Amino acid sequence: MEARIEKVKQQLQSQGYKLTPQREATVRVLLENEEDHLSAEDVFMLVKDKAPEIGLATVYRTLELLSEMHVVEKMNFGDGVARYDLRTESNKHHHHHLICVKCGSMSEIMEDWLLPLEERLESEYRFTVLDHRLDFQGICAKCQPENPPENPPEQQ
Ligand SMILES: [Zn+2]
Ligand SMILES: [Zn+2]
Ligand SMILES: [Zn+2]
Repeated sequence: MEARIEKVKQQLQSQGYKLTPQREATVRVLLENEEDHLSAEDVFMLVKDKAPEIGLATVYRTLELLSEMHVVEKMNFGDGVARYDLRTESNKHHHHHLICVKCGSMSEIMEDWLLPLEERLESEYRFTVLDHRLDFQGICAKCQPENPPENPPEQQ
C-alpha cells in the first residue's frame, strides 16, 4: 500500500503536482477498494471518513487529475455513472470486465487476453497497441437458469 502511494506521489510530482493530504486520502480509498468500481460519490463518502473537511468538488478534481495521470481509468459501464477503476501495475494494458446485465455484478479478468491480437496488429498493420478496453455484457453464473438436469441414463 505505502509503496503504491509513493509511486502515485512520484507520478504526480513528475507532472508538477503535489500529493496533498486530500489527494492522498482519495488514493488510499481507491487502493483499499481496488476490487470495486467506485463512482465519485462513492469515493467521496469513503474519503470523508478519513478527511472530514474534504468537499465533493475536491474529490472530483482529484479523480480527474488521477485519470489524466493514468493512475485510474474513468469507466462507463452503461448505467450513466462514471466509475473509477484503479490501474494495476502488473498489467500494461487495461483489464477486461464481465458485466452481468441481470444483477449488475462485475468481475475482472486481470490476464491480458488480447496479446495474440496485439501481435497480429503489430505484424499485419504495423500498429503498436498502447491500450485497449474490453468489457463483456452478459449473464453471470449466479443469474443463469439452473443447469438442466442431465439426461437420465439410457435404459439397456
Ligand atoms: Zn476494473
Ligand atoms: Zn493488451
Ligand atoms: Zn448476475
